[in-house]
Amino acid sequence: LLEVKSLFKSYKQVQAVSDVSFTLDRGDVLSIIGPSGSGKSTLLKLIANLESSSSGDILILGESIQGLEKKRKQFLYQKMGFIFQDFALFDHMTVKENLELAPRLVYKKDKNELSNETDRLLKLVGLLDKKDSYPITLSGGQKQRIAIARALATQPEILLFDEPTSALDVKSIDDLVEIILKLKADNIGILIVTHDLRFAKMVSSRLLFMKNSSIIFSENIQNIDNLDGIFDDFLK
Ligand code: ATP
Ligand code: MG
Repeated sequence: LLEVKSLFKSYKQVQAVSDVSFTLDRGDVLSIIGPSGSGKSTLLKLIANLESSSSGDILILGESIQGLEKKRKQFLYQKMGFIFQDFALFDHMTVKENLELAPRLVYKKDKNELSNETDRLLKLVGLLDKKDSYPITLSGGQKQRIAIARALATQPEILLFDEPTSALDVKSIDDLVEIILKLKADNIGILIVTHDLRFAKMVSSRLLFMKNSSIIFSENIQNIDNLDGIFDDFLK
């Protein structure tokens, strides 16, 4: 679904991402864990095409995005949804309008179809009653669930999350876990950047540990429990 091959990124003095490679398959939840400044957000930005890499390659649905013509590149990036740390909802639009903007522009769907899809997504995240609310009236956890619903509105096959739990209380984190597991069951490939190991363990199929710009270690979730001791040190 998504393949990252030997990705590098440097900013003037700083090597932010060094030789990062991994693959994300359908139904995989991959979490990248690492201390502050290790390059996690930079890596996500490279994948999301918000920054360009110094070298390396990214394949979406098996296709390298390098040298691709614009239309095809757009098509492949439409397979990706992003949920950013600050959720980036449009404050002057209602929840319904937030959800319908991209599919209306991109897919030219009619009103009824859009409306049914909006209801389906809001039910999925448990917020159907907030359809006509404005983002400013929502809590952090609710905003995040709306951001997820909005990312899903263009029917992506890959979802990228940057620090999804950082603004959430324990109850909201549990809701998020439930949503992610549902999406996983729907065969969406999910990539999460986090320093919340407890959360990562609840949702992930595999963990990648990033430090000083590199993936230093990766492990399937079944094998993680017996490694507990090392993490306290690692995340400092
Ligand atoms: P955090 O957990 O604090 O969010 P992170 O792992 O997401 O950290 P990044 O934001 O990817 O870390 O930053 C990695 C390194 O790259 C840091 O040293 C940072 O200072 C540097 N960096 C990130 N963005 C830029 C930029 N636009 N210009 C220069 N340096 C940058
Ligand atoms: Mg970050």
